[in-house]
This record gives sequence, C-alpha cells and structure tokens, in this order.
Amino acid sequence: MEKDIIIRNIKVESKCDSIFGASHVASLEAMIDSQRLYFSVPEEFVEYLERDSYDAFFIAALPLALLTGRNIRIEGVLSEKLYYNVINDLIPILCIQRPEFRPVSVKCDGLRSTFYKDAKAVGCGFSGGIDSLCSIELNKMAPPSFKITHLFNINAGANSDNGLRYKQRYLERLATAYGIPLLNFDSNIHKVINLDHGRIDHSKIHTVRNLGSILALQKLVRKFIYSAGYAYQHCGVFQTDESSFADPIVLGLLSTEATEFISVGSRLTRVQKTEIVSEIPLSYECLHVCLRTCLVPPTTFDAPLNCGYCKKCLRTLLTLEILGKLERYSQVFDLGKYKAVRNSYIENHIIMLPDVFEKEIAEYAMDRKFAPIVKKLKGRNLVKLKIQLARFFAAR
Ligand SMILES: [Zn+2]
Repeated sequence: MEKDIIIRNIKVESKCDSIFGASHVASLEAMIDSQRLYFSVPEEFVEYLERDSYDAFFIAALPLALLTGRNIRIEGVLSEKLYYNVINDLIPILCIQRPEFRPVSVKCDGLRSTFYKDAKAVGCGFSGGIDSLCSIELNKMAPPSFKITHLFNINAGANSDNGLRYKQRYLERLATAYGIPLLNFDSNIHKVINLDHGRIDHSKIHTVRNLGSILALQKLVRKFIYSAGYAYQHCGVFQTDESSFADPIVLGLLSTEATEFISVGSRLTRVQKTEIVSEIPLSYECLHVCLRTCLVPPTTFDAPLNCGYCKKCLRTLLTLEILGKLERYSQVFDLGKYKAVRNSYIENHIIMLPDVFEKEIAEYAMDRKFAPIVKKLKGRNLVKLKIQLARFFAAR
C-alpha cells in the first residue's frame, strides 16, 4: 500500500531571488513528500502570508493524492469550510472529471473557522488574455466591495520561466494603464507536484492549482475573481480533460471563511468576450493568448507577442476577422502566419471537428454571413455538421 502524503513544517522565509526579478521576496513554505513547496510574494506582503493553516498546501497536494490514491496527512490545521467542501464535493467532482483519479481520505490535527476582518483585497487572476481583460471590463460596473484592488500574475505552470519573464512587461504595462497594482505571485507547485510525468499538465488542472495557491494569502484576499473559461450553457460536471468546465461549481468549494472565490464571465461566450476586448485600444499592443510563446517566447521584443498559428491564436484571430477587427491586432500577432493557415483551420476544425469555442465561432460566422465559412457550409450537409456537433458534446 502506498504511503500517505505527509504535509508538515510550515514556515515563512525571506529570500533574495525571484523569477520576477524582485530583489527580496517573502516565502510561505511547507514540506510535501519531503520536498519543499513554496508560495512567494514581494517582501512588503509578508504579513499577509497564511502561516496558521495548511489550506494552500492541502489543495496543492490534492491532485497528486487523487492520481496516486495516497491519503493525505497534515501535521497542522485546515479551514473547516474548505475541509468540509473538499471531502464532500470537490473530491467526487474531480473523480468524475478524471476517471484515473481515486477518492482519498484526509487527516489533519484540527479545524479552524477564521475570518480576517482586515483582509479587504479583491484579487483577480491576470494573464493578459481574452478572459482576464474581459473580467476587468465587467468589473468596472461592480459595487465598491467587488472592485478589483490587485491583479495577480501567478506562476503556477501556465508559462515557462522565460515565457513568464517575457510577458511580465506587458502585464505591468496593462496594470499601470488600469491603475491597479500587479502582484507577482511565484511558486514551484508545478515543479514539486508532478502529475503523471507531466501528462496532466497545468492547463488540465489550473483552477485547483491557481486558487489553492491564493489561499497562501488569506490574510490579504477577501474576494478573488477568477475568469471563467466556458459559458454557462457548456458548464457542468462530466468526464473531461479540461477542469474548468466545472468552475462555477468548484470555486465555491475552494473558498474558506476568509477568502471567497468568484467565477466571472460565464454569462458570455468566448466570441462575445472577444468582441468586448476588441474595443480596448491597449489590447492592440498587449493582448496575449498564445500557447506557443508562453512556453518559447520571441527572442526579441520586436517580434509579435503571439505566434498567429497555434490553436488559441487561430480561434482568436478568426473571431476578430469575422468581427472585422483583425487588422487592429497586426502589432501583437503574426498575421502573415495566420493568413497562411486560416483556410485549413476553417476546414479541419471549424467545419469538420469543432470544439466548444469553434462551434461558437461557426454559429457566429453564420449569423454574420462570413463568406469563407458560409461558402464551405453551403456545399455541405448541414445535418451532418449538426450530428458531428451533437456527437462531440455527447462524448465530452
Ligand atoms: Zn499562438
């Protein structure tokens, strides 16, 4: 029988190095499986690190426990609300999403129910992409206690180290323009918690990973806005490779007495979000959606920020083209590469095998009578397309 995952020895340390280039950072650390996992923030935030509970480390270790079937033993305290919701609902939901996950038991030294009255920050995860830029636009109409006070640049595995450093200056520029401070939040979670030798990568578990990390700052963060990946009509709990289909359900289960996670944006489709973002002039210089350059960034700052031909670039650019706003983005995308592969993308993905986002694009193209897609659909059996789409959703 596999050994338990033991989490222990929480402490706060001061460090002199950071991936973000800050000279001094404060680091909340604990041992998991004899490895040191840390969450670090600029030194001026040291007082806000949550050293009285193991909540952040518990959630960090959870996917590994479910994948290996190893029970979790924590030599310390957890938040009562988090413990209750994870045991009763989050673990069953994650096991439905991924059949290779197995339920585990969780033991800790005690539970607490703590509300930090001085924690007043409203955080928002910030990647500079369509979802997060749209969330900031939507937040402009929010009442005072929901107004974003800090944008979080989280290092939890979405970018390579080089990709993160490259993107940082664009994120800083956007944050300055919005007048909201950017908090660089570093961690080695993706290096310590290795899921199936990287087969279950960050994109497949990012909600649990990002939000679990934020629990290291419960003394600062009262509310945290997390941009939804999918519209409500596509959300639910079912077997899937993409955990964020369940975000509107899961976020409440990751909340504690001190920190509440709020899902924003599911009332809109990705096409609608792209339309909103396309009216933000700063996005013409700073929008970043690219899967490729977040791992291997351009070698010079003259090169476009986005490759123009990865799956995320293609769907974003095709949407912008249908909107008639493609050329606005000539500075941040390689539009030459996009135009070279656009027709085969339409043929092989939008027409033949669309995912959720591409189905939205196909429907939008029909509404707008976008000739390159309408022409192809006209020559085909539309019933067949609908059957393909129905099969896709049935097989999710
Ligand atoms: Zn790309």
